Amino acid sequence: MPKVELIAITPNYIQLIQRAMGECYQRPVGEKTVKKAIQAGHLSVLEHCSATFEIQCSISVLLQLTRHRHFSFTVQSSRGCELTHFHKTGIEFLDSLLIEHMADYKYAVEDGCKNKEDAAYLLPKAAEYKLLITGNFRAWYEYLPKRMCKRAQKEHRQMAEQIQKLLAKSAPEIFDRDFMNCDRCTEKSCSFS
Ligand SMILES: Cc1cc2nc3c(=O)[nH]c(=O)nc-3n(C[C@H](O)[C@H](O)[C@H](O)COP(=O)(O)OP(=O)(O)OC[C@H]3O[C@@H](n4cnc5c(N)ncnc54)[C@H](O)[C@@H]3O)c2cc1C
Repeated sequence: MPKVELIAITPNYIQLIQRAMGECYQRPVGEKTVKKAIQAGHLSVLEHCSATFEIQCSISVLLQLTRHRHFSFTVQSSRGCELTHFHKTGIEFLDSLLIEHMADYKYAVEDGCKNKEDAAYLLPKAAEYKLLITGNFRAWYEYLPKRMCKRAQKEHRQMAEQIQKLLAKSAPEIFDRDFMNCDRCTEKSCSFS
C-alpha cells in the first residue's frame, strides 16, 4: 500500500476561487457559482490553489505519475540514498523474487559499486522511492478519475483513492465528489462491472 501524506494546501482556497470567478463577472460570487462553474468545465479557476503530498510508491507508479505533466516533483536520490523498501504485490512467488532482487542491489551497494547510482540499475520496478509532489487543484481534479479508474494499476489506484480522501477532507467543495462514472463509462475493455 503506498504511503500518502498531505503536507500543504492553499489555506484560503475557496475565497481564492471565488475571487477568480468574481473577476470573470466583475462582481463578488458565492460558493454556488463556483460549484456551477466547475460542473460547466470552467476549471481554470482551480489553478490558483495547490496541494502538496509526500508519497512513498514503487518506481512503477512513479513512472506513471510523472506522465501527468502539470505536477511538480522532488524525488529521493538514488545517488545519495540506499533504497530499502519495495512494494509487496501480495503474490508470494513474485514477492520472494523481489526480495532476491533487492538483496542483489544491497550487495552491489555494500560490496561492489563505488556509487549507489550505478547499483540502482539493479533495482526492480517495485523498489519504493519517497517524493514530494505538488499540483494545482485543476491538475489533481483531472488526475483523479484517470488513476482511480478500475483499469489503473492497483497500487496507483489505492494511492489516488488516498489522495482523493485527503483532498475531500481539506477542500470538500471541490474534491468531495464521485470522480468515477463507471455507470456512464463506455470503455469496452473494462472487465469490471
Ligand atoms: C488506465 C491507463 C492506461 C494507460 N496506458 C498507457 C500506455 O499503455 N502507454 C502510455 O504511453 N501511456 C499510458 N497511459 C498514460 C496516459 O496516456 C497519459 O499519459 C496519462 O494518463 C497522463 O494524462 P494526460 O495525458 O491526459 O494529461 P496530463 O499530463 O495529466 O495533463 C492533463 C490535461 O492537460 C492537457 N494537456 C497536457 N499536455 C498536453 C499537450 N501536450 N497537448 C494538448 N493537451 C495537453 C490534456 O487535456 C490533458 O488531459 C495510461 C493511463 C491510464 C489511466
